[in-house]
Amino acid sequence: MSNSPIADGLKGRCPDCGSGSLFSGFLKYAPSCAACGKDFQSEDAGDGPAVFVIFIAGFFIVPLALVFQLALDAPVWLTMIIWGPIILISSILMLRPLRGIMLTLQLSRDAGEAQFEDEDEL
Ligand SMILES: [Zn+2]
Repeated sequence: MSNSPIADGLKGRCPDCGSGSLFSGFLKYAPSCAACGKDFQSEDAGDGPAVFVIFIAGFFIVPLALVFQLALDAPVWLTMIIWGPIILISSILMLRPLRGIMLTLQLSRDAGEAQFEDEDEL
């Protein structure tokens, strides 16, 4: 528990032991920590981070694509062919650490509220 939840999330590491991975696939959460067995399944950040990331990517990258198109007087189809994948890939790359942070923040918040767990179960 020495690291902050954000540092653990960025690295995709279990916030409890710091060695197990939060993910079982590239973006899929693992059901539990492979190293210490901490349960991750009670948490699901859903599609919130995806929307957030696409918004960030669009905000920063679309202006670059516009500058590219105007500076080179490039046709729209060329701009889309080049920048479409860049936007997509950068979004996916940002999504993983963001999903990690979402999960570790939720896990750390729940750890602080563990004494009220019984009231929330049903
Ligand atoms: Zn662990």
